[in-house]
Amino acid sequence: MRLRMAVIGVGHLGQHHARILAGLPDVELIGVADANPDQARQVAAKLNTAAHDHFEPLLNQVDAVSVVTPTVHHHHVAAAFLRAGVPVLVEKPVCRTVAEADDLIRLAAEASVPLQVGHIERFNPAFEDLARRPIVPKFVEAERHGPYTGRSTDIGAVLDLMIHDLDLLLALVGGPVRHVSAVGAAVFGGHEDMVNARLEFENGCVAHVTASRISPRPKRRLRVWAPEGYAGIDFVSRKLTLVQPGEEVRRHGLRPERLDPASRARLKDEVFGRYLQVQQIDEDRKGDQLTAELRHFVDCVRTGRRPRVTGEDGRDALGLAEWVLAAVRAHQWDGRADGPTGLGGFPRPSGWLFPPASDRREAA
Ligand code: NAD
Repeated sequence: MRLRMAVIGVGHLGQHHARILAGLPDVELIGVADANPDQARQVAAKLNTAAHDHFEPLLNQVDAVSVVTPTVHHHHVAAAFLRAGVPVLVEKPVCRTVAEADDLIRLAAEASVPLQVGHIERFNPAFEDLARRPIVPKFVEAERHGPYTGRSTDIGAVLDLMIHDLDLLLALVGGPVRHVSAVGAAVFGGHEDMVNARLEFENGCVAHVTASRISPRPKRRLRVWAPEGYAGIDFVSRKLTLVQPGEEVRRHGLRPERLDPASRARLKDEVFGRYLQVQQIDEDRKGDQLTAELRHFVDCVRTGRRPRVTGEDGRDALGLAEWVLAAVRAHQWDGRADGPTGLGGFPRPSGWLFPPASDRREAA
């Protein structure tokens, strides 16, 4: 029997959820709902399914649902389906607050149905590959830079972008975190547009995480240093680079002064290769991540298996994001408690770096 499914919120991302679900052989997309009736109709017409401007009529018609509304509505929509005993995939961030996330976790447990959170980078093949390897991270650098899209303005760069890396870190390093310091700025006003955080885990690992949603070029990468070696992921190209000390280095270290002159002369060329072994893993990886994520959710609904990214995972990433935001708010711009602090207190620019161009369009 095909699984009857619906997508709630078919904007920028939700329309792709709907398109992919409509194409899965064991799923019947019985409808889409969007608060914008034109959007619902347009997407439904393309996929030959029913359009709704409210989700309520779908509550008792579906076997599973994907919630892709703006974050502020996640709890309200997801809770209604969980109360009706329907398994839910909810986009990231799981909710606005940890309390809301805890409520969804409780409702899913009461109904004994899967609750999955859309932390899609967990399905990036480069991350999947790294997560299978025996690496114990000691220092991590994560960067996630994106262009300004004008979307997701109900949240800032931490809940929009950084939360991906916070979830990956918790999955890879395995929390808990014992200290967070952070600095962030709302360049355009409102929520933060860029943030840098330093996280110290209880197991000694340190992570530097940067997110910006006002970068001219996208960049999404994670770099891990561990006793086992180094791992670098480029999430855009889905490439994994691994470097590990070879047997010689593991046994004796590298002492240039003990090498004969010929070996010492070749050292620069032989560091990577002979002493530090390198592997690039970028073979053509089939399939896109969103399909893998939705396929996984459908399998979990069918088998009752625990999703790879649970409600608890979504809640923990959100809790860490809230901690980063609190650290951003507490940051003292002048290094003094009586000076400006945090986002609201971002100092006004005191001068121009170069002569300003006029940014006002001439009236026609
Ligand atoms: P969007 O604004 O383009 O789309 C949201 C849609 O939901 C709109 O069409 C809106 O009309 C509709 N909507 C609003 N309230 C509704 C309600 N109560 N019921 C039904 N429909 C409603 O936003 P988006 O960029 O598609 O983002 C949606 C969600 O997906 C957000 O939570 C965002 O954080 C998440 N997201 C995740 C990723 C990722 O990498 N996993 C990427 C982008 C967005």
